[in-house]
Amino acid sequence: MQSKNKKPMTRFERAHVEQVKALPCAVCGTEKEGREAHEMKQGLYFIVIPLCPDCHRGHRNGWHGQKAMWNVMKKTEELCLHETLTKLYGGAVC
Ligand SMILES: [Zn+2]
Ligand SMILES: [Zn+2]
Repeated sequence: MQSKNKKPMTRFERAHVEQVKALPCAVCGTEKEGREAHEMKQGLYFIVIPLCPDCHRGHRNGWHGQKAMWNVMKKTEELCLHETLTKLYGGAVC
């Protein structure tokens, strides 16, 4: 799936993505501006996790790089997704 073929978000998906991006980075926990929503499968907007640019696309630290920070923090996409949904719906805001 190339990005130009991505289907547009529904308003429900957009609302979900906005909520996710308001959470701290799922890997390093930073609340700095500019967090991005990483789609675990491109175009599936309900399985997104909040990442700072470095944990997302950083050459060394990022998911789309060498995943150094992911390894240090012992994070997986599935774990991050679970933690993200827990923060949104489980009432365990931290
Ligand atoms: Zn991060
Ligand atoms: Zn991504």
